[in-house]
Amino acid sequence: MPKLQIQCKKCNHIIDTNISMDKKSFETETSMNNSTNCPKCHTVNVWSKQDVINQHELH
Ligand SMILES: [Zn+2]
Repeated sequence: MPKLQIQCKKCNHIIDTNISMDKKSFETETSMNNSTNCPKCHTVNVWSKQDVINQHELH
C-alpha cells in the first residue's frame, strides 16, 4: 500500500508520511488532519487530504 506523500510548503521537498491508505479509505476519509515534520527544513507542515500529492497512486 503506498504511503501518502505531501510537499513541504516551505522548501517544496516531497515528504513521505507514515500513513498508508488505500484509495477507498482515502476517499471516505473526511476529517484527516495531520502534521508532519519536513526532514529537510524541519518545518512542521499541517496538511489534510487535499494536500496529498500522490492520490492518483493509491489503489
Ligand atoms: Zn521543507
